[in-house]
Amino acid sequence: MEYRRFGKTGESISVLTLGGMRFTHGWDPPRSHLPKTSIDNAVQTVRHALDVGINHIETAHGYMKSEHLFGLALDELKVPREQYKMMTKGAPMTADDTFRLVEEQLQTLRLDYIDFYGWHGINNEERLNAACKAGGPVEALLKLREQGLIRHIGFSTHAPLNILMKAIETDLFSFVNLHFYYFFQHNLPAVKLAGSKDMGILIISPNDKGGQLWNPSQKVEELCSPQSATQFNGRFCLSHPEVTTLTLGMHATEHFDSNLRMLENHQYSSETDQEIKARLDQPLEQLNSRCTYCLECLPCPENINIPEVLRFRNMLVAYDMRSFGKYRYNMLERKGHWFPGEFASHCTQCGDCLPRCPENLDIPRLLKETHHRLFNPRLWIKNKLFDWFGGIWKILKRILKKY
Ligand code: SF4
Ligand code: SF4
Repeated sequence: MEYRRFGKTGESISVLTLGGMRFTHGWDPPRSHLPKTSIDNAVQTVRHALDVGINHIETAHGYMKSEHLFGLALDELKVPREQYKMMTKGAPMTADDTFRLVEEQLQTLRLDYIDFYGWHGINNEERLNAACKAGGPVEALLKLREQGLIRHIGFSTHAPLNILMKAIETDLFSFVNLHFYYFFQHNLPAVKLAGSKDMGILIISPNDKGGQLWNPSQKVEELCSPQSATQFNGRFCLSHPEVTTLTLGMHATEHFDSNLRMLENHQYSSETDQEIKARLDQPLEQLNSRCTYCLECLPCPENINIPEVLRFRNMLVAYDMRSFGKYRYNMLERKGHWFPGEFASHCTQCGDCLPRCPENLDIPRLLKETHHRLFNPRLWIKNKLFDWFGGIWKILKRILKKY
């Protein structure tokens, strides 16, 4: 295993992180009810991760059963506390909520202290201000750090680049969890800025949000040969010295081998890596009507996330990444600030965006075409039902709490 310094935290952590978002039945409420299948899955995965040298575990209060499962697994395996670093996250909106939440998380994780605490989801200006306001959550986290209950404070983000840069510029944080991978290099300036401020950088979901690379299109698979798509992408991320660690969605023992093989050659910009990258770059460079993700077309009065929709089009047309495009596109309109924007079908052809596009793209036509190719009505209905039941469950929980 390779270890890197996690920025100014000074801690040495493995370049592979064990994330806790995907344990078996991990998202089934209630959060503290732990079925045997979930426990077995967590215990086996944690044991295997530690055996292969992973020393960094990442979870969040928002990941339903995850903190409970890690707390139980680490206890059951009697793992010495100095053998691993624990990162968890939360998004409390006030100082009092912060103290309460961290106390609860320490109990759930069965720990005396948390190594890395990330404010979860600085995804827009409003949330940045809420987290960093005077007397607010981040100040409370600083107090908890003085008390030794938290060692280092950072944040995670799905925000547009300008907000991400602003959050880094506050100089309140020692690390950042962000999106950056081969198929989304737009956040490179944030990686560079965070690096210049000696912040640790964790890359969120490079295999999944990074293009569902565990299930690549035939074209991507061929372009990445002799590496797998996940191996190429992981190596691409690690070729940036500012990047400390990756969460690769490993939630079963069989998920580790391929990622470990990716680390066999620590020279991440080898001749082979460069050849693959040059091959992968070509289809995008040759693409007609390519959106460059410059963001100049925003805002759209219908709140269409034009650059993101057209990024899916780029990937679909250049790389045949249809299943990834469908997976992400159909998440629009249901993830709030985590993934904002309306479906492209809301375009009224008002033309506001057209003069702002330096590529002179026929944006309404491209949006319509992309919606037609990626929208999945059955998935949309399924998601709506899921959200509806989720909403009812939340209301029921609130009522039950009162009695
Ligand atoms: S033409 Fe469509 S995409 Fe462009 S600003 Fe108007 S509604 Fe938005
Ligand atoms: S202005 Fe044009 S190139 Fe830039 S993000 Fe919008 S559609 Fe893409």
